Amino acid sequence: MTARIIDGKVIASELRARVAAEVARVQREHRLTPGLAVVLVGSDPASQVYVRSKHKQTQEAGMASFEHVLPADVAQADLLALIARLNRDSSVHGILVQLPLPKSIATETIINAIDPAKDVDGLHPNNAGRLAGGFAALSPCTPLGCIILTKSVHASLEGMNAIVIGRSNLVGRPLVQLLLNENATVTIAHSRSRDLALLCARADLVYAAVGKPEMVRGDWIKPGATVIDVGINRLPAADGKTRLVGDVAFQEVSEVAGAITPVPGGVGQMTVACLLVNTLRAACAIHGLPKPA
Ligand code: NDP
Repeated sequence: MTARIIDGKVIASELRARVAAEVARVQREHRLTPGLAVVLVGSDPASQVYVRSKHKQTQEAGMASFEHVLPADVAQADLLALIARLNRDSSVHGILVQLPLPKSIATETIINAIDPAKDVDGLHPNNAGRLAGGFAALSPCTPLGCIILTKSVHASLEGMNAIVIGRSNLVGRPLVQLLLNENATVTIAHSRSRDLALLCARADLVYAAVGKPEMVRGDWIKPGATVIDVGINRLPAADGKTRLVGDVAFQEVSEVAGAITPVPGGVGQMTVACLLVNTLRAACAIHGLPKPA
């Protein structure tokens, strides 16, 4: 069997087009331009790439994009003051602080300072708690993207056996909650789990969010399962550059799985598209408008 490739590039581009159409509609009907503020502390090259891509895609969707770049040695109080200003700014509907932050800054304090209504990364405890309680919430973008990719293969996830490998606040935990909301039966695995291969063997849906290159092997996978690879790992390449690989051994697994996301070109593409979705949703909710289609 050769798995169907789930093309994150195409699905993300369709999603961005749908967001742009909705942005145009709320502008026309309600004179509302959703605005996203991205805060970058320091000059980490990978973070700079992400921030540039967020800025470009936000503008392309017709939204306002505000970028705030602060030096790596910024005082925590100054960062908190900026967040307080963005919380009050009525042209800003989404606030994203690019992680990781320098060690001198308490990440939890910064996340807690963001107005939950503008928390488009879905990391504020109010949103995490609402999601865990099954209430409407702004949910983290990468897990949202994973669900959209899965639904491009399965219209309904009801009753399916899913395994999520990884339990971070950014990916694993919120993904588990989103899968429960879809009525899947979910197993959560982590670094202390025993016999991952056996746990995976009964899963119809496998999500790998670990950060270990090619850890998930072909003989772990139930034939026909859908495999969503969240991992982004940089390995040295023969030409002295680096190459990206996921947490799934792609060649092996694609011979057994029914559908699989590639790395790159899978989940990574969806994260920024879902950030645009969250910004549009936040803008509509703040202005008392119905949830966009
Ligand atoms: P974290 O390091 O925060 O979490 C990793 C999780 O994997 C932990 O829960 C850890 O368990 C678990 N884990 C570690 N080793 C093993 C193992 N041997 N067996 C089973 N579980 C294990 O990572 P993130 O969740 O932030 O990211 C995971 C991956 O996804 C990374 O490669 C990251 O680059 C990528 N990523 C991709 C994004 C995208 O847009 N595509 C966005 C965000 C992340 P424990 O809790 O016990 O320590």
